[in-house]
Amino acid sequence: MTATQSAPRAQAKAPRRISILGATGSIGESTLDLVGRDPQAYKVVALTGGKNAARLAELAILHRAEFAVLADPKGYADLKAALAGTGIEAAAGEASLLEAASRPADWVMAAIVGAAGLKPTLRAVRQGTATALANKECLVSAGSIFMAEVARHGTTLLPVDSEHSAALQAMTGTAPERIERVCITASGGPFRTWSLQQMAAAEPEQALAHPNWSMGPKVTIDSATLMNKGLELLEAHYLFDLPPEKLDVVVHPQSIVHCLVYMSDGAVLAQLCCPDMRTPIAYSLAWPERMHVPNRRLDLAELGALTFEAPDLQRFPALRLAKEALAAGGSAGTVLNAANEVAVAAFLDKRIGFLAIAGLVEATLVACSDLIGLAPRSADDVLDIDTEARSRARGWLARFA
Ligand code: NAD
Ligand code: MG
Repeated sequence: MTATQSAPRAQAKAPRRISILGATGSIGESTLDLVGRDPQAYKVVALTGGKNAARLAELAILHRAEFAVLADPKGYADLKAALAGTGIEAAAGEASLLEAASRPADWVMAAIVGAAGLKPTLRAVRQGTATALANKECLVSAGSIFMAEVARHGTTLLPVDSEHSAALQAMTGTAPERIERVCITASGGPFRTWSLQQMAAAEPEQALAHPNWSMGPKVTIDSATLMNKGLELLEAHYLFDLPPEKLDVVVHPQSIVHCLVYMSDGAVLAQLCCPDMRTPIAYSLAWPERMHVPNRRLDLAELGALTFEAPDLQRFPALRLAKEALAAGGSAGTVLNAANEVAVAAFLDKRIGFLAIAGLVEATLVACSDLIGLAPRSADDVLDIDTEARSRARGWLARFA
């Protein structure tokens, strides 16, 4: 082309309409960090939060959202006041949360923590909106039903959990029958080298001090017990339709290699990056392409060594319990997840000790053998089992106090 010829004018692309469920959390804020770097490229439709009306209003104003929804109805007056005169619609409560998930969008980030995210996330899935899934509890608790809905509506489901994003990146282009094994890595958490005796006295503040990742409190405690890795095995089982015997965990304290995919010809494909959730979030946002993320680049020479070790199921029984739940099938994942949510909340409230988290989960699994055998046919069935398991777990709490 000569200098006198004018370049064809680039076709202006319509901004992508996106919503974020759990916008005020760690994953939600990281997603908005990426979105805010290219505001012309996105139109923020709906943002939701749990209880923090002030932060939700700030984010909605900053990102010019259309609709801001708080899960907790008690915060409605504060949210409405903070958004007065902005033109942003404010709402609160469960029905509005579902409405936020249903508003037409091209992409939704599902980043509510816990089984509380199941119904809103399913709503987005049924709407056919491409869903970036951070909320692993959805799959742990309701994997079969969730994946059936994804298939029924032809919805694109993109994993956000770093190990599962890594697995997708490493598996893309390989026929499923050529994948022999998927091994996800665990940092080992803050207590990787602690004795059981030391862990018995661990305070929430110590368990919340994760060596590599900055995350919300629930997933940080799950990382300290290694329950997080167990939940991630169940997550991988449903996401990639892999049987338990093809799934594995290795402890890798540097959190640089996120997943290893073993192929039938002996090759192993891994995905590596510095531990920053903006990389897997960006992969889900730009998929099937990639985008620019201005985060730290990996320098292997500076790191010097990457190390790996087998997980210790004696000191970290939560991982064993999750493996057993994966093998048991049925509603074991629902019960495991419900009991774990009760136990983590009780530990954070200093009502039980650190080791009692796995203790309570195990006692609840034993006490719920009747529930585990049930085959739920809907999300409501799952939530009924979840409610009953929580109630039994709470009944056991006093014995672990
Ligand atoms: P977080 O606690 O920082 O944020 C959770 C979000 O959900 C917040 O917006 C909160 O207000 C909202 N919320 C909480 N309870 C709610 C309820 N009952 N109803 C509606 N909304 C509610 O959690 P996070 O660390 O961002 O994690 C979110 C999800 O992503 C979790 O499932 C977690 O396991 C997963 N995940 C997180 C990370 C990470 O780096 N933070 C990494 C991998 C996976
Ligand atoms: Mg993870």
